[in-house]
Amino acid sequence: QNVSQPLTLPTGTTIHPRASVGLAVCPLDADDTETLFRNADMALYAAKKRGRNGFQRYKPEMGRLQHLRQELEDDLSVAIARNELELHYQPQMDIRRGEVAGFEALLRWNRKGVQVAPTDFISIAEETGLIVPIGDWAIREACRTAMQDLGGSCISVNVSARQFHGSHLVQSVAAALAESGLPASRLELEITESVLIDDDDVATRVLDALRELGVRVALDDFGTGYSSLSYLTRFAFDTIKIDRSFVQAEDEKTWHVIRSVLGMSDGLGISVVAEGVETIEQLNRLAGEGCFLVQGFLVSQPVSAAEAVKFTRPGGWMTPLAYQIA
Ligand code: C2E
Ligand code: CA
Ligand code: CA
Repeated sequence: QNVSQPLTLPTGTTIHPRASVGLAVCPLDADDTETLFRNADMALYAAKKRGRNGFQRYKPEMGRLQHLRQELEDDLSVAIARNELELHYQPQMDIRRGEVAGFEALLRWNRKGVQVAPTDFISIAEETGLIVPIGDWAIREACRTAMQDLGGSCISVNVSARQFHGSHLVQSVAAALAESGLPASRLELEITESVLIDDDDVATRVLDALRELGVRVALDDFGTGYSSLSYLTRFAFDTIKIDRSFVQAEDEKTWHVIRSVLGMSDGLGISVVAEGVETIEQLNRLAGEGCFLVQGFLVSQPVSAAEAVKFTRPGGWMTPLAYQIA
């Protein structure tokens, strides 16, 4: 009997089972039962990670990787207590008004003096659930900084799908707003479509509750993943952030898509922010298409709050850039 043979349940639903296999061989891969099972388990994890429905033999580097990961995980769990986390702020510029529209807060981890890339530690935080306390910390810290150091600027904070389990996020956002005194309309939460894929009902309820608080919600990385337009009808986003892979594309087809996203957003009353703007050509092109909110290295890298405050002051940094805008 084949494991992957479809099964029809009494309810009429057909399921398509799949199997993943992890292999460890005695005595080549381990010489005691406990290690043998642990190594087979690691191989199984690798097989699943590779896309499931396959098998994987244990390799010694899996053990080393697992060990490194475990160390990162252990350190990450005490990163808040050790004061190793920090937020950096990247300005979002309104090129029509010539002023900063707000900042995106981005996590930085200074692990024992060495910076770890967010892409390396955020996935670990998500898988382990550490993203819940870390995400809470980020929201509080971002609201406090926006109010105390950035003159009450609008602030965007990224939130992961995992933070949508239960009603914790709503309480934590409400507490951060109350504590900092930041008006709710100045806080925007950035979510990716994975939030809506994972658990549509729960996520929509949480989003509605956040909306009731008066917080804005942005759809991040638009243009990657499925980018199904149905997400836009299921929840009334305030902002769409066009992913940098689109902004940096040079082919005409991509620009047609950008144009239609802009047209559609305009009709729905949604703001559009273009991410990853690195060149003046990209900026001019976006302005020509009617996209006036931009974020990217052209304006600034994410910087500390002390540096970011400069962007809230009139003139100065804007002038050379404004000059070049066609
Ligand atoms: P993201 O939300 O899409 O953030 C934008 C990323 O693009 C940031 O990377 C930023 O530094 C980078 N970036 C900005 N402008 C440019 C540009 O012109 N060119 C290029 N090549 N890159 C640019 P970063 O800071 O490494 O963050 C990576 C990802 O980590 C973020 O992607 C976000 O998904 C996640 N992340 C960061 N902070 C948080 C957080 O507080 N909570 C959660 N859940 N995720 C976070
Ligand atoms: Ca983001
Ligand atoms: Ca993004």
